[in-house]
Amino acid sequence: MSERPTTTTDAGIAAPSDEHSQSIGPNGPLLLQDHYLIQKMAHFNRERVPERVVHAKGGGAFGTLEITEDVSQFTKAGLFQKGARTESLVRFSTVAGELGAADTSRDPRGFAVKFYTDEGNYDLVGNNTPVFFIRDPQKFSDFIHSQKRRADNHLHDHNMQWDFWTQSPESAHQVSLLMSDRGTPFSWRHMNGYGSHTFLWYNAAGEKFWVKYHFKTDQGVKNLTDAEAAAWQAKDADLHIRDLYTSIKNGDFPTWTVQVQVMPFEEAADYRFNPFDLTKVWPHADYEPITIGRWTLNRNPDDYFAQIEQAAFEPANLVPGIGASPDKMLQGRLFSYPDTHRHRIGANYLQLPVNRPRNEVHTYNKDGAMAYTNPADPVYTPNTVGGPVADPELWKGDSYDVAGEIVRSAYTLHRDDDDFGQPRALWEKVLSDTDRDNMVGNILGHASAPEVTPEMKVRVAEYWRNIQKDLGDRVAKGLGVNGR
Ligand code: NDP
Repeated sequence: MSERPTTTTDAGIAAPSDEHSQSIGPNGPLLLQDHYLIQKMAHFNRERVPERVVHAKGGGAFGTLEITEDVSQFTKAGLFQKGARTESLVRFSTVAGELGAADTSRDPRGFAVKFYTDEGNYDLVGNNTPVFFIRDPQKFSDFIHSQKRRADNHLHDHNMQWDFWTQSPESAHQVSLLMSDRGTPFSWRHMNGYGSHTFLWYNAAGEKFWVKYHFKTDQGVKNLTDAEAAAWQAKDADLHIRDLYTSIKNGDFPTWTVQVQVMPFEEAADYRFNPFDLTKVWPHADYEPITIGRWTLNRNPDDYFAQIEQAAFEPANLVPGIGASPDKMLQGRLFSYPDTHRHRIGANYLQLPVNRPRNEVHTYNKDGAMAYTNPADPVYTPNTVGGPVADPELWKGDSYDVAGEIVRSAYTLHRDDDDFGQPRALWEKVLSDTDRDNMVGNILGHASAPEVTPEMKVRVAEYWRNIQKDLGDRVAKGLGVNGR
């Protein structure tokens, strides 16, 4: 008698054969009544859920956040109290590529973290860059369309990308970072993560602060050159998944130092930059990053599809002590992330083990496709029969005055706001000579694609001249559009 278990159907019924379909005689046609065969084929046909429209290619791991400093004066959130240890999940990804795309493509990297806190899930859905291409979600789908594939030939098209960027000057900061070697990280372990958006923190007394998160890699930032990234695309499209998985498997756990920049609530109004504009950083000299803890990745997924492909991150998951800011991109994402999960995975995506909070859920939401747990009676509120009741006290602090006319408008400019000053600081003060040479080379490689028209090359040079004249001149020269 074999020690191996008997194969079953998904209903647990013993399977008649692993190899043979039921047929009329050994050579005859197959029978519709072969339920085991039909179930196997039908389930196989449904193995894929829709891939993410953005951030389709990725990988991830589980880890632990440990808070080492006392920041209770800024937030009462349990996960950020000194000594707290919180289990977490991260998913790293590229943005524009499809499921099988190469990990080393030039692209920002998604850096989405879910913290399974005692107060419910807290998700920080960031990137490996502190800024973004646009500042109003009205432009998001247009921006992504320009990065994906053309309608006619189904090809990525650099002319289309530059057409969007050169008409969207707010993209200058993020495109600068993208065209630097940080656009092609060596591995996910060797890049920083940023919450990017500004968030609200409030303490037990209800006092408010604005914060930005920085996860600084303890492995050191390490990037690929354009040539190295291209070579890896041919050699191993899954380099970054493999690197993270192997290093955790070998017990070489990557860590990040967790920092926050904290701005007193009242300073936002008069700060020299609009602190809610996602195309801007807060210069470190203005708000020094404070170290609050350490984050370690220490466990690989054991089921990629169940734990990574079906992982659902949403910036709307904010626990008491943390709130949203008026950042327009964040406001758009508060809606769009849960909406895409409802479409992609289904209305009950939060019941899947990887997405389910570790604390108890007491909700009046019920039913829907694939409901696995449902609230017990009573199924409505208000009720007089002992159902759960909300506790507004927990959220005291999560409010602030807003007044104004309903408009469609750009942000009000703050004193030093413009689209080019911060990327200019990056070029002039932060990048080394080698970084600059590589960045010019990366831009030229990208904008020299055969589909980029001569007229577009002139606009590309102008775009970079707006950031910094020497940079623009070098791009113009390299593209052969030196005519002005
Ligand atoms: P600082 O000189 O205080 O900080 C510059 C920061 O730039 C560094 O701390 C580092 O942040 C980051 N950096 C270092 N090397 C590179 C590189 N090769 N490519 C991209 N970023 C790099 O200056 P400011 O805070 O005034 O910022 C100046 C410019 O630096 C900004 O305009 C922005 O472009 C860039 N920057 C600023 C960040 C911020 O939050 N203030 C964060 C990242 C970039 P880190 O260790 O986080 O990588």
